[in-house]
Amino acid sequence: MTQYRQLMNYIGGQWTHSRAAEYLPVRNPATDEVLAHVPLSPASEVDTAVQAAQAAFDGWRRTPPTERIQYLFKLKRLLEEHSEEIAHLTTQECGKTLAEAQGELLRGIENVEVATGIPSLMMGYNLEDIASGIDEHMFRQPVGVVAAITPFNFPGMIPLWFLPYAIACGNCFILKPSEKVPLTMARVFELIDQLGLPTGVVSLVNGGKEAVDALLDHSLVRAISFVGSSPVAKYVYSRAAANGKRAQCQGGAKNTVIVLPDADMEMTTRIVADSSFGCAGQRCLATSVAITVGEARREFRERLVDAAAQRKVGSGLDSEIEMGPVITPESKQRIESLIAKGAGEGAELLVDGRNAQVKGYERGYFVRPTLLDNLAPQSELARTEIFGPVLSLIHVQDIDAAIELINASPFGNMACLFTSSGAAARKFRYEARVGNIGINVGVAAPMAFFPFTGWKDSFFGDMHAQGRDAIEFYTEKKVVVERWPREWSRKF
Ligand code: NAD
Repeated sequence: MTQYRQLMNYIGGQWTHSRAAEYLPVRNPATDEVLAHVPLSPASEVDTAVQAAQAAFDGWRRTPPTERIQYLFKLKRLLEEHSEEIAHLTTQECGKTLAEAQGELLRGIENVEVATGIPSLMMGYNLEDIASGIDEHMFRQPVGVVAAITPFNFPGMIPLWFLPYAIACGNCFILKPSEKVPLTMARVFELIDQLGLPTGVVSLVNGGKEAVDALLDHSLVRAISFVGSSPVAKYVYSRAAANGKRAQCQGGAKNTVIVLPDADMEMTTRIVADSSFGCAGQRCLATSVAITVGEARREFRERLVDAAAQRKVGSGLDSEIEMGPVITPESKQRIESLIAKGAGEGAELLVDGRNAQVKGYERGYFVRPTLLDNLAPQSELARTEIFGPVLSLIHVQDIDAAIELINASPFGNMACLFTSSGAAARKFRYEARVGNIGINVGVAAPMAFFPFTGWKDSFFGDMHAQGRDAIEFYTEKKVVVERWPREWSRKF
């Protein structure tokens, strides 16, 4: 890949240079090196993509689902063949380790696999003789032109939460990836270009707020999928809904795990450290708070201090590295000021990851794993999504107090319990007001054939990403009541 290249949009089956007034540098967060420049495409380019999608729609929806999925089989093969190269790009622009980048691509490919089941998944249902001689059928039809707006932290996986289902159901799809990490999808769209899809079925428009607003306001865009921070998710949801669109908007999180005294402490601490510090804490399912119950406190705390202090931090391209940098210098500064605030609010700083220096990567945006103890539940740190490698500990006397703290949070993305008690696990999964639950699991990420079910401020909408919800989201139901003259059942 040429350095400093200006990224293009992929619209109507063509790579086109944007006429954007502004291009932003895309930087490698481990080195601060500029990798490319991304256009902040104007609304007029979004309109060109939407018009191309609309023009393609009638032909695409009439293409049999069995033919539509052949393109997905090819896409799966191409993604697998190029997975190392794609993961390398993800690590370069996003900072996570190569293993993490490969893992996320795999999770994305799983969505391509599930979407190849569309001929079965998209079936409706019917019933003969709902009245004498009258039959009733429910068909699912594609909604039309749909768009997805995606965040920086999973440049490979999250666009694939949407694209495969959208096109398999017969929609035409436009992606607006995060302007911080546009390289991964630029490469994936080069592969998509090789599929031979009809012109306009998929488009890629790079950009920021102007491009997003243009999608939200365009009368031909029928459905919006969004993943990002809660304030933007709420904004996108409100504006899309006000314009009469269907919207599914996943937001931020503040994920908590509960550790009971009967948990396997060695495994639990390893799993929680990985959940908190993996991907440098920049996962919407990262553990941010661990609540220990009773006797669990001492051993969990000691082991976590070791795990935080020992994690190997550096460039994600180095194979022995366990944690890369955070995405931008602003993000590093924000995380470090939240750590300072937490300490100022009375939490004890057990491991301080601020002012990290990594040899050979002095210009990188590194924050080392950080551990705070005795976090006050009402403090700002306890309520704010940090999105960095920071874990805070809270101690309570029983599981009820722990569940109460989880249920008081405005977020509802994930909560996990570590225990060897089935009764405690059952109580927890029943009572926790959170959409994704882990039992002895630290990152409870639903597989592609299940929906990704954030609740409360972690999700705005009705139908989630992935699985059967994706088919519901990308199709309209049509009911046909049918009678034939030879069977007239009554006189009029
Ligand atoms: P972000 O909200 O800053 O950006 C997400 C997308 O919205 C980007 O494409 C961006 O260009 C666009 N955008 C940003 N500000 C906008 C505005 N004012 N108007 C219109 N569009 C705007 O999020 P991010 O920093 O890229 O990603 C991190 C966030 O995403 C975290 O909060 C994380 O929890 C969340 N996330 C959630 C999930 C989930 O499934 N719930 C998954 C991954 C990430």
